[in-house]
Amino acid sequence: MKRCVLTAPAKINLYLEILGDRPDGFHELAMVMQSVTLADRIEISTQPGIAQFTQPIQIQCSHSRVPNDETNLAYRAAALLRDRFPDRIEKLGAIEIAIDKRLPVAAGLAGGSSNAAAVLIGLDLLAELGLTQGELSDLAAELGSDIPFCAIGGTALATGRGERVTPIEFPGPLWVVLAKYRSFGVSTPWAYKTFRSQFSDRYESDPVGLQQRRNRVHSGEMVGAIANGDGTAIGALLHNDLEKVVLPEHPAVAALRSTLAAGTDGNGADVLGAMMSGSGPTVFALLATEVAASALRDRVARTLDDPDLELWVTQLAPDGIIVLDS
Ligand code: ATP
Repeated sequence: MKRCVLTAPAKINLYLEILGDRPDGFHELAMVMQSVTLADRIEISTQPGIAQFTQPIQIQCSHSRVPNDETNLAYRAAALLRDRFPDRIEKLGAIEIAIDKRLPVAAGLAGGSSNAAAVLIGLDLLAELGLTQGELSDLAAELGSDIPFCAIGGTALATGRGERVTPIEFPGPLWVVLAKYRSFGVSTPWAYKTFRSQFSDRYESDPVGLQQRRNRVHSGEMVGAIANGDGTAIGALLHNDLEKVVLPEHPAVAALRSTLAAGTDGNGADVLGAMMSGSGPTVFALLATEVAASALRDRVARTLDDPDLELWVTQLAPDGIIVLDS
């Protein structure tokens, strides 16, 4: 029996700009993605000698909104490797993937994507596939747009539909308060479809214009602020186009964002910035210290006093997936 235990961290978007449409139905994006320390825990165990056809790939996850079947992204990652490397993966025998789900689901934090990336990395180790970073990224991109970033982690620019990932400097260990109402999620396809229906007249279609807009983000103020580790500037430059469709649809999320932005003193003095992550509905605030982040979490909990509200204090992480045990 072989075993590999990995973290599968959440990501937040420090910047998300929708540039235009793509022929494949996705959007052209320019994003700055950032791992945080809050993570699921993935344990992959293999049992040699058990024929694949009787017990192929099993998922164990007790979260009610996470499927335990072949639609689970972690399952799909294992199945993709089994298709591409049948001999090596078959030698492992039965594969069991246990997901300790600590991240909220359908939250804009790429929880499922991160689980899939962890399975790619874990099975690469267990089956000794020796995948290069490029090969891993190509496989990840087949599974989903956020998965190449999750496989790399840290801080990165992501363009194309999100799958073209360029690591950039880590801005430093800023603190983050994440906030989400437990009872609802936002469908990522809905958010992008709604954005298209309202804003496609602003889309860039000229390839030269698209490249110019990508370059503007690459050499723009946010990337500069990150390179300088300037938390105040990063907070001021947070941007997410999807707020334009998700916040009007979900006023409670807009109110939650305002409450975070108001900080512990009501005028936002100790909050560097607040924003929705990805397609939401999770919103986050950036702060300079753990003390300030814990104080904000406590104040938001007291102010809104809603049992449906979940809050986490976490930190920007310089790495993505970490192999804890193999
Ligand atoms: P993204 O930001 O990449 O869109 P998200 O954080 O908004 O991700 P997920 O938590 O990945 O959303 O969940 C989206 C959907 O995927 C849910 O409806 C969930 O049932 C399904 N899903 C499939 N596999 C997983 C998994 N391993 N973990 C969480 N959700 C999963």
